[in-house]
Amino acid sequence: MKKIVVYPGSFDPVTYGHLDIIKRALKISDRVVVAVAHNMDKSPLFSVTERVAMIKKSVKGLKGVEVGDFDGLAVEYVRKKGARVVIRGLRMISDFEYEFQMALTNRRLADDIETIFMMPSESYSYLSSKLIKEAAFLGASLKGFVPSFVEKAIKEKLKLRRKA
Ligand code: ADP
Repeated sequence: MKKIVVYPGSFDPVTYGHLDIIKRALKISDRVVVAVAHNMDKSPLFSVTERVAMIKKSVKGLKGVEVGDFDGLAVEYVRKKGARVVIRGLRMISDFEYEFQMALTNRRLADDIETIFMMPSESYSYLSSKLIKEAAFLGASLKGFVPSFVEKAIKEKLKLRRKA
């Protein structure tokens, strides 16, 4: 039987930290389904379609990665994909409380699904999509944080926002 894991998140946008976790997840599974959430954040920088497209482009060349999106409960999507495992990344102790709450809530909703936390390389342990957007807004280079086409897309978006 194929081991399938689901890695859900906002990915607004995908960073090298996310990609690091995807590669680690591939080491313990046959297939990683990266799942972009239609979440409650009312002002994401990128649409779900754009986020999915950017992840797809970033994982080109990695075997065993599928990219999708879901609306509603992550555990339902996990079941729909025939998986039993949710992957989440843990960077700092500050991630812990939220991740712990979410893992236990998911367990309450679906006791047959387990959450596995993976740590990124320490060079990505401080990286977040939020910080990257802020840095881009202030004109910083995003080299080493996101693929160059993602950096370009962020800067284009910010330009459009400034004009609006
Ligand atoms: P969410 O809104 O679901 O937290 P994110 O896109 O911010 O969505 O993150 C998705 C998952 O990836 C979360 O488990 C988060 O902790 C993890 N993650 C985000 N950035 C990194 C990083 N730099 N290294 C490792 N894990 C990360």
